[in-house]
Amino acid sequence: MLTQEIIDNLRFKAVATPSMIIDGKACGANEVLPIISPLDGSTIAQLPMAQEIDVNAAVSAARQSFDKGIWADMAPKARKKILLQWANLIEQNAIEIAVLGVRDNGTEIAMASKAEPLSAAETIRFYAEACDKVYGEIAPTAPDSLGLIHKEAIGVVGVIVPWNFPMMIGAWKLAPALATGNSVVIKPSETASLSLIRMVELAHEAGLPDGVLNIVTGDGNTAGSALARSMDVDVLVFTGSGATGRKLLEASAQSNLKRVYLELGGKSPHIIFDDCDDLDAAATAVIGGIFRNAGQVCIAGSRLLVQRSIHAALMDKIITLTRALRVGDPLNINTQVGALNSESHMDSILKMLDGSNPVIGGKRVLHDTGGFYIEPAIVTDVEQGDALFQEEVFGPVLSVTAFDDEESAVRLANATQFGLSAGVWTGSLSRAHRMVAAIKSGVVHVNTYGGADNTVPMGGFKQSGNGYDKSLYALDKFINHKTAWFKL
Ligand code: NAD
Repeated sequence: MLTQEIIDNLRFKAVATPSMIIDGKACGANEVLPIISPLDGSTIAQLPMAQEIDVNAAVSAARQSFDKGIWADMAPKARKKILLQWANLIEQNAIEIAVLGVRDNGTEIAMASKAEPLSAAETIRFYAEACDKVYGEIAPTAPDSLGLIHKEAIGVVGVIVPWNFPMMIGAWKLAPALATGNSVVIKPSETASLSLIRMVELAHEAGLPDGVLNIVTGDGNTAGSALARSMDVDVLVFTGSGATGRKLLEASAQSNLKRVYLELGGKSPHIIFDDCDDLDAAATAVIGGIFRNAGQVCIAGSRLLVQRSIHAALMDKIITLTRALRVGDPLNINTQVGALNSESHMDSILKMLDGSNPVIGGKRVLHDTGGFYIEPAIVTDVEQGDALFQEEVFGPVLSVTAFDDEESAVRLANATQFGLSAGVWTGSLSRAHRMVAAIKSGVVHVNTYGGADNTVPMGGFKQSGNGYDKSLYALDKFINHKTAWFKL
């Protein structure tokens, strides 16, 4: 069980020198980058900065392991066993990895301890079980023919992930890629690599053969870009910003036309109708939906759309709850709003808030800690043309817009370039179904916000991305469907 005492025993532990892992071996790089903890601004380790030559070495190790068939041709039952053991090891080391990850990226420990190692282990188990349960098909041909559809691993998969939930998001990609027999090179964010390095070490302890899963660390423009431009990566799966997503599509076009799957940003509407049965529950969900992980959540419900007749009552509740939020040390088990991932990210949020006149919050706090913290902010009367309505802040900032009727709620909900997530609170089942049909986003939460498990897909509509993480649909990104056609 997670206790404050256990966390405190781990919080100052010296961080082992981070290494890349290429072909099963720990490697450094010629250059390093200081890892600055967002908790207090201290340097906790030095991260190897991979150059193109290191990335190419990792891709080549992945290619060789794939071509030799040491993983792709292993009996599915045996692959499953190794993946399940990997999940067990992550779970056994969960608290230690969670604390390490929090020191690196600033998420509240209460959340990270569940959303990071434990959720990654659960995802790996989900796909491990698929190893020997997802297989090919026989097509319904005429009797004089036989059409077999084989599902084959594609080859080398490149994975690039952001810093907000590196293990959870990493597992959404690594687990289905490995379960289907591919070899992988992953590049975590330069501001959140430590937990993923540990996760890859544990994969090797679990028995994953060398070269099947490689990790290179470093920045986007050098290491990430080298992976995206590689002529030997077959599929690139990415979670991060739209700006980077565009660069990856260009890199694919300029290299080997690798398949590129993008999970990008959002500006998700959280819509409260006046027929909502439980305004207190809605207010609590609105707060959780935007302020957990200090708003650094892709599906954050960052645009509150509230029916005008209940605007005042709901805002009273929301402001009261926001005032009571405990902001601060992410390694305090009671903290509800942790740190921003980096000083530059904090500064970009403060810049977006400049001149917006929040009704509450929006200032940097806890300067004396040396860490990067902003008080949760609420900005009301935000209009469709405003930057706070249209642009992702990726921080603890809720924008509020009133609407009059269902039609205008739908129009406002869909009035951005994004389509990742949405929430609807209503007591009417018919309205709930109408809203689910009308909102253009990958998920619509009804009378709740967030949640969902591995059984359902997660993907963006519009400029929030393409393809899916999670669920059995995610396997398709890593499989070639090959037809064998027989004349009988
Ligand atoms: P980012 O795009 O800056 O970085 C993401 C990753 O891409 C990092 O590993 C980075 O090093 C790498 N990268 C940066 N430039 C690159 C380049 N030119 N070539 C190759 N790789 C490059 O995003 P971020 O700031 O780390 O994360 C925040 C963004 O991620 C937000 O927009 C958020 O909404 C999005 N996100 C989306 C989801 C989802 O599931 N849709 C989940 C979490 C985060």
